Amino acid sequence: MTDCIFCKIVAGDIPADIIYEDEDVLVFRDLNPQAPTHALVIPRCHIPTLNDLRPEDAQLVGKMSLAATTVARQEGIADEGYRVVFNCNAGAGQTVFHIHMHVLGGRPMGWPPG
Ligand code: AMP
Repeated sequence: MTDCIFCKIVAGDIPADIIYEDEDVLVFRDLNPQAPTHALVIPRCHIPTLNDLRPEDAQLVGKMSLAATTVARQEGIADEGYRVVFNCNAGAGQTVFHIHMHVLGGRPMGWPPG
């Protein structure tokens, strides 16, 4: 998708602070962090929202979860605890329409989330 900011990061057309990558997934630091660690796990392929996932994407979403655990260990937040969040559609706060898993940690997390 030429007008997708996360596809541009995947393509290397705009910079990002990448902290993990493999053949399917990229993880980079959020530009506007909401916690001491705030990273975004994205698939290299363009999927607009969670609602667009197909059964054949199940392994990809599993890889995104595993990338989140790798990054949590790298960042030293795996044992103390961290939160992963997918926002789906505008009503839940999604602003970038290329699926991404937020990984947040390094501070206490309240519940329920806002
Ligand atoms: P969401 O609101 O769930 O769609 O999350 C989108 C996230 O992407 C926000 O937390 C933004 O701060 C973050 N973001 C937007 N553009 C960039 C960028 N170029 N590099 C890193 N993070 C970004």
